[in-house]
Amino acid sequence: MELLVAVVVGLVVVGLVLGVVLSRRRPAPGRTSPAPGRGGVATGDRQTAATTAPPRTPGPGLAGRIRSAFGSTVQDPWSELEGLLIGADVGPSTSARIVGDVRARYGQGEDPSALVGEEIRSILGASSSLELPTEGLGVVLVVGVNGSGKTTTIGKLAARLSSQGKRVSIANSDTFRAAASEQLGVWAERAGAHLVRQERGADPGAVAFDAVQAARARGSDVLIVDTAGRLHTKQPLMEELKKVRRVIEKAVGRSPDETLLVLDATTGQNGIAQALAFTEAVEVTGVALTKLDGTAKGGVVLAVRDQLGVPVKVVGTGESVGDLEPFDSEAFAARLLGG
Ligand code: GDP
Repeated sequence: MELLVAVVVGLVVVGLVLGVVLSRRRPAPGRTSPAPGRGGVATGDRQTAATTAPPRTPGPGLAGRIRSAFGSTVQDPWSELEGLLIGADVGPSTSARIVGDVRARYGQGEDPSALVGEEIRSILGASSSLELPTEGLGVVLVVGVNGSGKTTTIGKLAARLSSQGKRVSIANSDTFRAAASEQLGVWAERAGAHLVRQERGADPGAVAFDAVQAARARGSDVLIVDTAGRLHTKQPLMEELKKVRRVIEKAVGRSPDETLLVLDATTGQNGIAQALAFTEAVEVTGVALTKLDGTAKGGVVLAVRDQLGVPVKVVGTGESVGDLEPFDSEAFAARLLGG
């Protein structure tokens, strides 16, 4: 009996030790870099991938799955194809368009995945990057809903431009979010950028106007203007953004060189609906698609290009300062199709 008790106790102890060891070895789910949140800034720069972040779809890529659907005895491979596209976050209307176009071109014995690939490449078009003047002050107006990653993207962009030898100023035209203002200050300091801000509640247009003057006086090469992002359905926000844009136009003598819409990839189609309101109000020239490192599937990039009519110019692939990449259409299409 004593021997039996000793064996049972022994087994329990071994089990506990193994449990502890194994749980320590398993990384925390979904966390790849330190999160600055609102209170601090991540310190570790992660190595950035050479190409645009891949969609995180396990198993065979889209092309493989499409071939399987058409090779099997599925009743209706076309609706299967539509389902695969929607499942990859392409969105219902762009998925339906792709299926319609491929179906119209498809001939017996052809590889449907190759045709889908052609459609994807044609929607994405050539890669386009941020376009800033080589002389004088370049202005980047940044818009997007709160939480989309505006502050973080501005910080990363400022750091990237600084590392290229540019003198960067940042204006905080969102004069109501105290926490965001603080966070922007931390990012600005880190990027060696100058932050222009005024007291809480100041007129956002006036901040933008002063910022242009201040950036010029300091000899800055680029001014990045942050804006408010409270809910898009509130009409006054869109009016406020239009005004900030008009003020910049007046102060600089031309439209902002880039009007960047920051869009959270994990919000999928919902985010696109919101984004339409911004594109109507302020003539967006490019999208910064954030959080492509998380659970977001790559297809949302296609929906953005197709439904908003503007190119994705940069993608956010994490919370650290180095996690911003130029968007590469060809690499992205290859990764989406190949998995
Ligand atoms: P804002 O309200 O639009 O200014 O959004 P923030 O810049 O404060 O970002 C909101 C949250 O998203 C923060 O926790 C950021 O660290 C996080 N975030 C921003 N960009 C990315 C990204 O590309 N990847 C990941 N994983 N998180 C991001």
